[in-house]
Amino acid sequence: MLDVFFTVDVEIWCDGWNNIDEKFPDAFRKYIHGPTAKGDYGLPYTLRVLNDHGLKGVFFIEPLFSTRFGEQPLAEIVGLVAESGHEVQLHLHSEWVDESKIPLLAGIHSKRNHLRNFSTAEQTTLIGAGTQLLEQAGASHINAFRAGGFAFNKDTLSALSANGILFDSSYNASLFGPDSGVMPGVVVVEPIECAGTYEYPMTVFNDGTQSLRHAQLTSCSYQEMEGLLWQALEAERSAFVILSHGSELLNRAKNRPDEVVVKRFHKLCSFLDRNRDSFCVRGFQGLKPRAVLQQPRPLVSPVWKTGARMLEQAYRRKYQ
Ligand SMILES: [Zn+2]
Repeated sequence: MLDVFFTVDVEIWCDGWNNIDEKFPDAFRKYIHGPTAKGDYGLPYTLRVLNDHGLKGVFFIEPLFSTRFGEQPLAEIVGLVAESGHEVQLHLHSEWVDESKIPLLAGIHSKRNHLRNFSTAEQTTLIGAGTQLLEQAGASHINAFRAGGFAFNKDTLSALSANGILFDSSYNASLFGPDSGVMPGVVVVEPIECAGTYEYPMTVFNDGTQSLRHAQLTSCSYQEMEGLLWQALEAERSAFVILSHGSELLNRAKNRPDEVVVKRFHKLCSFLDRNRDSFCVRGFQGLKPRAVLQQPRPLVSPVWKTGARMLEQAYRRKYQ
């Protein structure tokens, strides 16, 4: 049995940083509800499809935006996720720190896009503030974290430990993982223990090109994802972490559903539902931490699937 984490980063962007107070209500609708002429394809849609298949999702919710726009929109998001029976966990985008109306950190007057650019003490404060915001918005039992843009470092794991958060899922070998200070020189693909925190890295794979790719709904074809899941099961991996976003089923302009990605999502859910004797789709609450001492090599997907995916991605770019 392989533990599968279907993780969804939930965040709101206002298309730049000018007039954000004016732009926020529309941005909230787009990123959270995702209205289109064909219906809504945002967070409630994602929650409904997961529930239709009896699958549990992990929703890493970004709360710092609420220090600018108020707690009601955050409470709405937390309510949607929690009332549908899914896990609310913490996601932080430090881009909001200098936009906040509540002083989160002293002396920050310009933008710092990455959490890893803050000291351990500052990261500890931000993670504490984020947890408190989510709890005030109705979340409970938060025990997992993901840094915005996967831009964490080893200090983040100490900061999580100081806040009593046991799990992290910020290590991404295709992004900042290798120079995060966590197991230098090793590509981390299976859970480890570091600085008092259990790291559950993003699942990445070698697709025959030069770089590693992460298992994201918009980045992988359904065939790739299914093949990788079987391969991870056969290799007796401990965990398989999939990435999505609250607005991932929409096209780039967020005015239409991305039909290819919607189809991938439905197929993946139906596959995981059919094969629940092999794959346990779960969250971090109640999880017994695991640590794999000898890291295996990243999973490999055959090149023909890479080629097929490239065609599918080109179709998406052209017609969505
Ligand atoms: Zn994010």
